[in-house]
Amino acid sequence: MLLMKCPKCKIYTLNKKCPVCKMKTISAHPLKFSLEKEKKYGKYRRMAK
Ligand SMILES: [Zn+2]
Repeated sequence: MLLMKCPKCKIYTLNKKCPVCKMKTISAHPLKFSLEKEKKYGKYRRMAK
């Protein structure tokens, strides 16, 4: 079973489309990876400011 996540609403779903905004969902599986990515983005944002 693949857990999907809507990048816009930040909700989890099993559908390929978000039930709320009908946007294409992304895989929520690499949780650690996305967490690291967010951390990196936060750092970058701070540096750019
Ligand atoms: Zn959505």
